[in-house]
Amino acid sequence: LPEQEAFDIEYWLLEEAKLQRMPKPKSLAGRIAYITGGAGGIGSATAFRLLDEGACVVLADIDQDTLHARVQSIVQRFGRDSAVGIILDVTDEASVAASFERAILAYGGIDIVVSNAGIASASPIEDTSLALWQKNMDVLATGYFLVAREAFRLMQRQQSGGAIVFVASKNGLAASAGASAYCAAKASEIHLARCLALEGAPHGIRVNTVNPDAVLRGSKIWAGEWRRQRAASNKVAEDELEEVYRQRSMLKLAVLPEDIAEGVYFFASDLSAKSTGNILNVDAGNAQSFTR
Ligand code: NAD
Repeated sequence: LPEQEAFDIEYWLLEEAKLQRMPKPKSLAGRIAYITGGAGGIGSATAFRLLDEGACVVLADIDQDTLHARVQSIVQRFGRDSAVGIILDVTDEASVAASFERAILAYGGIDIVVSNAGIASASPIEDTSLALWQKNMDVLATGYFLVAREAFRLMQRQQSGGAIVFVASKNGLAASAGASAYCAAKASEIHLARCLALEGAPHGIRVNTVNPDAVLRGSKIWAGEWRRQRAASNKVAEDELEEVYRQRSMLKLAVLPEDIAEGVYFFASDLSAKSTGNILNVDAGNAQSFTR
């Protein structure tokens, strides 16, 4: 090789090696993510996933003590400005509006909204009180509506688009005996997201849904009555339930909060820049989710 050409090759090889050693820029650096139910299992796993990608997070939840503990652990790991905690009741219009105002005060804007706060209840239809039905509708259907409406108002004002992710449920697509109020409310979330995808598209607002199958670990829902009822309806002991869901899945894998967080990250980030109105079932392959 002529001397100059050999020098050029060596120079570019060195530059290439330098680039490979440089840390990759984080995909959500500078973005603010607002997460309802942020104190819960899936909400906090999502927060950690988005923080790992460089986002700052607003955790909004009704459970003040757990919320405080979650924010403390994030701040210790990611630094003082990485997270704020806001007490929120998603069923209360004023509380939802105030939580967005507080988030804007803290960070100046919001780029990603994860609507995830939830409850679960099982009851055969003949025993389902109007109050139980209403509670499911209030927290799930109405809660997701109120949060999405506030997100739309803000994102339209900001004029920089945005990503809204609903954490709904496989039960919003597949029927489940003895949990009709929960299933109907979750179905309403899924269809709301699809309608909002149409409304958001002209503004660059993407709206997508992640449907978890049963995620027993880390979930407060599964620490209570819901677990007992699901165990009874599957005719197994409570500690055998995860195995039941694992065996029911095509891949024979248990679904973890981190698996749901990965799906939320996909829809929250530019990886899904060309996806809106979509549904991702994170269920280790549950035949029910697409046969019904
Ligand atoms: P979780 O109980 O650990 O978290 C839910 C959080 O929502 C809790 O921190 C709770 O305090 C909060 N919350 C409840 N009511 C609220 C209200 N009115 N206002 C504000 N916050 C409120 O449960 P999770 O498993 O992390 O569930 C998260 C979401 O995923 C829920 O919407 C749930 O329906 C959905 N989901 C969960 C599973 C599962 O098996 N864990 C399966 C399918 C769907």
